[in-house]
Amino acid sequence: MLEASAVTASYGSIAALNGVELTVPKGAIVSLLGANGAGKTTLLEAIMGGVGMTLSGSISFEGKELVGLSTEEVVAAGIALVPEGRQLFPELTVEENLMMGAYLRRDRAGIARDVALVHELFPRLAERSKQIAATLSGGEQQMVAIGRGLMSSPRLLLLDEPSLGLAPVLITDMMNLIREINGQGVTVLLVEQNARQALRISTEGYVIEKGHVVLSGNAQSLANNKHVVSAYLGGDAQD
Ligand code: ATP
Repeated sequence: MLEASAVTASYGSIAALNGVELTVPKGAIVSLLGANGAGKTTLLEAIMGGVGMTLSGSISFEGKELVGLSTEEVVAAGIALVPEGRQLFPELTVEENLMMGAYLRRDRAGIARDVALVHELFPRLAERSKQIAATLSGGEQQMVAIGRGLMSSPRLLLLDEPSLGLAPVLITDMMNLIREINGQGVTVLLVEQNARQALRISTEGYVIEKGHVVLSGNAQSLANNKHVVSAYLGGDAQD
């Protein structure tokens, strides 16, 4: 579905990605693991049009080349990004934030269907639809951010650290929800610091270090890999 090949990205003289190769098959949940500064967010932003970076290589989505497209064109092609740190419109309500995700759409019936889907996934957001986003809890804000991502009706959803700032019990719920979203037919590329939780729900994964893919494989094989265990799973045996 998504095929990245020889992707190189830099910010001025700072190289962030150096020849990344990555494939996201349709229907998969692919996790992208790596330390702080490895280039994970840069890769998601490169997919979304590479605003502010110098980008080369190829990123094809359903056969369409994305490198050179604007963010709006990438969204229109069927991809949405839920950025790290939520980045909601704090003064707007839950409902208004959700509708921001549908700004390129004109199909009212489809939009209403997707609002219903978001409310089904996150009943809490249905209850709080008129609440100002800034007054929501961290977990609720994360739900709005994901809901907003779904409002463009993407076939591929990019999630940047959705568990950031959530209590451990909520992280498990969040991961289960991502699996549920995937079950609705949305392919997922997931950046996560919480490697154990990410690999639990993923079909496959990639480990990125200093702008390179250093390991990739199915989730089970990564969870058993010595390097992954010592560097990303805290040295414990996998569960
Ligand atoms: P984290 O887990 O900490 O979010 P990451 O793997 O997502 O890290 P990136 O945010 O992609 O890492 O950053 C990769 C490298 O690019 C880092 O060295 C970072 O400092 C640099 N970088 C990212 N954005 C910019 C920017 N706008 N200007 C300059 N350098 C940047």
